[in-house]
Amino acid sequence: MTVTALAARLAAVRARIAAAADRAGRAAAGVTLVAIAKTHPAAAVEAALAAGQRVFGENRVQEAQSKYPALKSRYPDLRLHLVGPLQTNKARDAVRLFDVIHTLDRPRLAEALARAMAQEGRRPALLIEVNIGAEPQKAGVTPDQADAFVADCRARWNLAPAGLMCIPPVGTDPAPHFALLAAIARRDGLAELSMGMSDDFEIAIAQGATLVRVGTAIFGPRAAR
Ligand SMILES: *Cc1c(COP(=O)(O)O)cnc(C)c1O
Repeated sequence: MTVTALAARLAAVRARIAAAADRAGRAAAGVTLVAIAKTHPAAAVEAALAAGQRVFGENRVQEAQSKYPALKSRYPDLRLHLVGPLQTNKARDAVRLFDVIHTLDRPRLAEALARAMAQEGRRPALLIEVNIGAEPQKAGVTPDQADAFVADCRARWNLAPAGLMCIPPVGTDPAPHFALLAAIARRDGLAELSMGMSDDFEIAIAQGATLVRVGTAIFGPRAAR
């Protein structure tokens, strides 16, 4: 994709976010667009940077390590989010590289992140992934385990989770899932809601999303890998 085409797609997504926020009676500034660049080359990220985008997301630590260090030195205000599963043995790398980690989903990872943050002297914001449809194959704490896991993060590991993240089951109406995530966040005193992707970010904004994770609508389709 050309730099001009990418800038136009980015502007269109931003306009849709602003319109959705407006319809919900919310300020567009309360919704952060996380541009999910996984599988796309550093050149695509650069084109988005040239168009003013500063917040990016990746789902693999190793891919992020190869793409971002050079870009971060040229764009010091670039912010990087991890939206994919994190293995405990990569916790330290993730703490070093990412500003926000969306996928805290189990006690052993909480423990590993707490240790890594102490070692690195760096504290990325943490979001707890909720398996909002309680699907057997999916990562995340189930909705009925969420309150206890938030409390454990605070009390046992001295972590201060910033919010919750979810990916609703495919082929279902996402709105009730987003509403449930928002309700859990509200009762647990968590401000950030990472929900909504290319196909449903407007619905997520209507339900209170503060972070929308949009890949395809910005960068185009991904090659299989
Ligand atoms: C790939 C991915 C996205 C972006 O998905 P699109 O449908 O391309 O917008 C969002 N969130 C997560 C966790 C992802 O892995």
